[in-house]
Amino acid sequence: MFKRHSIPFVAALVAALASVVAGPNPALRAAPQHPDQAPGFYRLKVGDLEVTALFDGTGVFDPHWLNGTKATMNGVQQALHEDPHMLDVADTGFLVNTGKQRILVDAGAGSWWGGGAFGRLARSLGSAGYTPDDVNIVLITHLHSDHVGGLTTEDGKRVFPHADVYVAKAESDFWLSPDIAAKAPKDAQPFFQSAQAIAAPYIKAGKWRTFSGSQPIVDGMELVPLPGHTPGHTGYEFSSKGQKVLFWGDIVHALRVQLQRPEVTATFDIDQTAAAATRQQLLTRLAREDVLIAGPHMNFPALGRLHKEGSGYSWAPVVFTDEWNTAAFSPQK
Ligand SMILES: [Zn+2]
Repeated sequence: MFKRHSIPFVAALVAALASVVAGPNPALRAAPQHPDQAPGFYRLKVGDLEVTALFDGTGVFDPHWLNGTKATMNGVQQALHEDPHMLDVADTGFLVNTGKQRILVDAGAGSWWGGGAFGRLARSLGSAGYTPDDVNIVLITHLHSDHVGGLTTEDGKRVFPHADVYVAKAESDFWLSPDIAAKAPKDAQPFFQSAQAIAAPYIKAGKWRTFSGSQPIVDGMELVPLPGHTPGHTGYEFSSKGQKVLFWGDIVHALRVQLQRPEVTATFDIDQTAAAATRQQLLTRLAREDVLIAGPHMNFPALGRLHKEGSGYSWAPVVFTDEWNTAAFSPQK
């Protein structure tokens, strides 16, 4: 198999290896380990859109944050005993580059949630070749701090100074209302406080924009109201050249519980009944249609498709490829 001219090279290589083997046993020589992970981004094309998942961090979902029947929750505890990683969750934001605009969909937690376990989104954005100054638009699914914390530093500065931030009016009105906050239960207070502090510098700069109805914000993008988790919880569905990607916010927190049992809700769902109904309807549609799903709490890169499986659904994550702009090789072709 070697070409003739490569033989001297092979001979040199054999000689080099022989000199190494003659020295101390290389198999026993210590080599430093490398603790750094791969850069926290994953990119693919959806039609003409460049979609980049931006890793923010990982955590573990507390089983007490799930609401289901006693039998279901006993099952969760049992499964968790057998696999302590069953409720591992990620937090991910996404950048859509349309060619004209750089649109961030959700912004990770920053330092507002998770005690330092999150807040890596800006670094992931840098690894992906962008700076916060490049972001023109931010679309927010809802105002929980694990989705908006990355917008604002703890000392009240905008992380994305050139971006207009869009959120549903119902969402903004709810979390930014001092009256509603004053009447909210004590354990919900931090969500109100963080939402108000995170929004404040954008409001002050005239960069906080709310929408109601279905007015277009970006060409080729549709608003998908997904009420229940929060009053104005909204998905964003982009289409390009017949391909679709839906950013679904918090439709699923615990992937290995709620896809098999979509009726299981999270204690954070403001309207438990509506949250479960919205999830049922959306999962049914997505299992029928060919839509790429971007789900912030699914395992990184938090992109995949949904299939019907028994009485529930299964998640098919995207497969790693570095040829994200061309069709994959198929032996049938
Ligand atoms: Zn969330």
